[in-house]
Amino acid sequence: MSATLIDGKAFAAMIRGKVADHVARLKKEQELTPGLAVILVGEDPASQVYVRSKGKQTTEVGMNSFEHKLAANTSEAELLALIQQLNANPEVHGILVQLPLPDHLDEDLVINSIDPAKDVDGFHISNVGLLGTGQKSMVPCTPLGCLMMLRDHHGSLSGMNAVVIGRSNIVGKPMAQLLLGESCTVTVAHSRTKDLADVVRRADIVVAAVGRPEMVPGDWIKPGATVIDVGINRIEAPEKGEGKTRLVGDCHYTSCAEVAGAITPVPGGVGPMTIACLLANTLTAACRANGLPEPDGLTV
Ligand code: NDP
Repeated sequence: MSATLIDGKAFAAMIRGKVADHVARLKKEQELTPGLAVILVGEDPASQVYVRSKGKQTTEVGMNSFEHKLAANTSEAELLALIQQLNANPEVHGILVQLPLPDHLDEDLVINSIDPAKDVDGFHISNVGLLGTGQKSMVPCTPLGCLMMLRDHHGSLSGMNAVVIGRSNIVGKPMAQLLLGESCTVTVAHSRTKDLADVVRRADIVVAAVGRPEMVPGDWIKPGATVIDVGINRIEAPEKGEGKTRLVGDCHYTSCAEVAGAITPVPGGVGPMTIACLLANTLTAACRANGLPEPDGLTV
């Protein structure tokens, strides 16, 4: 293996440390405790794990965590009423609605009812528009984490060819906007892209956000390129025993690492950065809401 490993776990720990230091200062000097409210509707097991983890890490950095667990049959009116209440609560600086929502709830309507200033996921249409026009916004956590790692590794990204594979609203599109903002030449690939291998081979930076296990092989990677693997896919792992599974990314790690200049692993790459950036966004929102300077290096 020749690639440098970009250690998302260590990077995320460093971000959480920065957030915790700043929160401690806000408490002492401003008597302000940033607060994050997380709403979970239903009992999806994966969502329950994410919400637990978010709550734990929120309190570990010294912020207030408000968890709202609602029954799967909660009506849209009830959910919107809770969001209005949180919008109006000055102790709540960030609001996150765990997705996916049960089918009877309109995801766009729910997300767009969050006060954009408290929209720490960065999914509100106002934040999407602000990001797209290069204005100060709340930036979606996963692409923000990817950008932080890229900036840390490269310094300036100006003029680099970046290929983002995937065009979802939560990863691919905001990632492309962020890279454009860094003056990269950006290509967004998707399921209809022709000659994807050739497109990827031109990239100095590859961000893979597809959801297909090990889809990108090493021979698609330009020698020395930086590979950011967003994918989280669980596959069977008979080598670990019957019925066992393991997590892999969208890139074939071993072959990509032989060619790339730098690469994020799965697990331990982008994943840990996502929650760290959620905490960073909550802190940023608390500072903005109170007219205080924003901490350095925790947003774009
Ligand atoms: P989506 O399913 O919303 O989007 C996947 C994208 O990949 C689509 O744009 C789709 O194209 C494209 N795609 C599918 N098949 C191909 C193909 N054969 N070639 C090229 N493009 C293809 O996924 P998400 O963006 O939500 O998530 C992507 C991955 O990232 C998942 O594995 C998810 O688990 C992971 N993830 C990880 C996070 C983290 O914290 N690390 C956070 C969020 C997601 P089209 O639009 O044409 O259908």
